[in-house]
Amino acid sequence: MAFREFERLSPNRDPAPHERLGALFHHSELGFGETIERMLNPGSRVSYHCLIDADGTRCTLVPDGEVAWHAGASRFLGRDRCNDFMLGVAFAGDTDAAPLSGPQLASALEWLESRWSRLGWAPDRLADHRQVSPGRKRDLNPAQWDRLVAAVAAHFGRSSSPERVSMLK
Ligand SMILES: [Zn+2]
Repeated sequence: MAFREFERLSPNRDPAPHERLGALFHHSELGFGETIERMLNPGSRVSYHCLIDADGTRCTLVPDGEVAWHAGASRFLGRDRCNDFMLGVAFAGDTDAAPLSGPQLASALEWLESRWSRLGWAPDRLADHRQVSPGRKRDLNPAQWDRLVAAVAAHFGRSSSPERVSMLK
């Protein structure tokens, strides 16, 4: 692994088995350290599975097999409650104020790489918070989402997940 990764487990999580159908991207607005502090505070009632700093360092806050509290009211793949089936990944910072850094994008690809084939993911298994909670959430900035999509397509290709069509029925 090119980027450092460490674990600080958040109390804000459910032990229920996670379906891991894809990844939902956020920005945290706050900086890396401040976001971790917020996730470690039970009073905040929020968490992501993974937080990515501007230098590409990743913090695991909730294990993949458990449910993190990142999406709230949301809908994707024809289903409500994205927390049950989408892993939550956040870029530290505010993508409306500053673009994603190169290391942040590369680190996200590295995080995806270790899950992509094993979990049967494809580009259509990725979304951002803005798309699954329209009108309620603004992350990511659309131009930064487009950069992420382009980086994913360049790295993994553009083909769809085989189950996508049946899931949308
Ligand atoms: Zn969000």
